[in-house]
Amino acid sequence: MPAADLLFTGGAVFTGTGQPLHGHAVAVSGGRITAVVPEADAAAHVGEHTRVVRLDGALLSPGFQDAHVHPISAGVELLMCNLTEATDAADAIATVNAYADANPEEPWILGGGWSMDHFPGGSPLRGLLDAVVPDRPVLLMSRDHHSTWANTAAIRAAGLDASTPDPVDGRIEREPDGTPAGTFHEGAGELFDQVRPPIGADLAYAGLLRAQEELIALGITGWQDGWVGTGLGGVQDVASVYRRALADGTLKVHVVGAQWWERTGGIEQVAEMARRRAEFAALDSGRFTLGTTKIMVDGVAENQTAAMLSPYRDVHGHDTANRGLSFIDPERLRAIVTELDAAGFQVHFHALGDRAVREALDAVEAARDANGATDGRHHLAHLQVVEEHETARFAALGAVANIQALWATHEDQIDELTLPFLQDGAEGRQYPFGDLVRHGARLAAGSDWPVSSADPMDAIHIAVTRVAPGRDDEPLGGAHQRLDLATAMAAYTSGTAYVNHRDHDTGHIREGFLANLVVLDPDPFSLPAEETHRSTVVSTWIEGEPVYPRNA
Ligand SMILES: [Zn+2]
Repeated sequence: MPAADLLFTGGAVFTGTGQPLHGHAVAVSGGRITAVVPEADAAAHVGEHTRVVRLDGALLSPGFQDAHVHPISAGVELLMCNLTEATDAADAIATVNAYADANPEEPWILGGGWSMDHFPGGSPLRGLLDAVVPDRPVLLMSRDHHSTWANTAAIRAAGLDASTPDPVDGRIEREPDGTPAGTFHEGAGELFDQVRPPIGADLAYAGLLRAQEELIALGITGWQDGWVGTGLGGVQDVASVYRRALADGTLKVHVVGAQWWERTGGIEQVAEMARRRAEFAALDSGRFTLGTTKIMVDGVAENQTAAMLSPYRDVHGHDTANRGLSFIDPERLRAIVTELDAAGFQVHFHALGDRAVREALDAVEAARDANGATDGRHHLAHLQVVEEHETARFAALGAVANIQALWATHEDQIDELTLPFLQDGAEGRQYPFGDLVRHGARLAAGSDWPVSSADPMDAIHIAVTRVAPGRDDEPLGGAHQRLDLATAMAAYTSGTAYVNHRDHDTGHIREGFLANLVVLDPDPFSLPAEETHRSTVVSTWIEGEPVYPRNA
């Protein structure tokens, strides 16, 4: 037998599902896994040129795959006015001030990462920005990318005033006389699209590479980009950024791009999406495909645009008339999804509220009735509130639950901006991962970075505890909604590989599969659940090459 290029030995091996193997070694040659053998047989794979990697008790796992991430906007944000490290409102303002001083030649101050829970009602005022940047427009996305904060110069530049109506898919926060107050929720943020300077192709490309570096350092070797379109967040053409990385040979990971469904547009988008899919398929890169469509079914709970079955409450606990927004009429959604499914597309739904989840599952059901079972592997991302009987429909319809486990814990954003405005009992229906698994749903996992941390181990920690490190809250929704560690790890590896249609060669440690691997220390399976976050990435490998740290 020929000697391996690489042999991992001396640690447990999580293969992508189930409990880890103990006492086994993994051999790699030509970028692929060639053997998973008992340690006693490992010597047969070692030759003069074999590099032996001693795990010293660390865990070897398939590389993580993020099922919902926005790398380009995340990377660009890191390179622009970046508020993600700000600890409170004053800190955010100071960061904007310092950035403006350091970049006097920039006509607009663009960036983002501010946190809703740093501002009363989640809605910062224009005057806070005017105080530090009175003369240039400032436009900053919230950390969750659902709200935009503007100063007076930006509001004037866009020609917005008391007479500007709210768009159908968004809301303008207003002063008593109707003047925009500074925060623009959901589609209202697009009111600036015509006047804000676009993000140049070079900055977008630099953002992708910066993001890739960050994600690889977290053990991520593949992802689904949840936002591939034109003009999104100022990026002119997301697919062309990936095309450039393919041409330059700088794209190291495997990416599925989810093409953005323009919710005001018509069914003719299917043909255009198929054309773009074919264009990238012809490149035959093995690293980037466009076979997915992203559809926003609703908004988010924090600004009461998530579509709910029952009404939101006001600050006094009284029912309002608002049940959130269905961005697409449910009947039309069924027709669109049926058409996409027939055209061989996967649909990636943003579905947060329980009504949105129902409408998305209804659409998958309509597609199945019309087209029979396809290999679409449609998935619903976010799943903040899910009715109990809806959890059973995932398995029946072959729909995948795409979870952002990091959010499934008590923290200020949910405790102050969401739960007080939902009906009694809603807390028990938040992120019901345990129920989904008990009802046989397949899971995939992702971060929604830059909305929240991209670190899979942070999310897995919450998945298995439902309590953030260092807090002593009750587990959100009850202990029965926790996942066991193997299930959470599987969601982030083999589960996302399935959603990405890459389960034939990634997401598992198995002979013939690509050697896309991560080494985690300490082995999280050796830790009590509440210490899971102590396990961090030692090294990341793509097709048998060390990509983090570079000198692994
Ligand atoms: Zn997202």
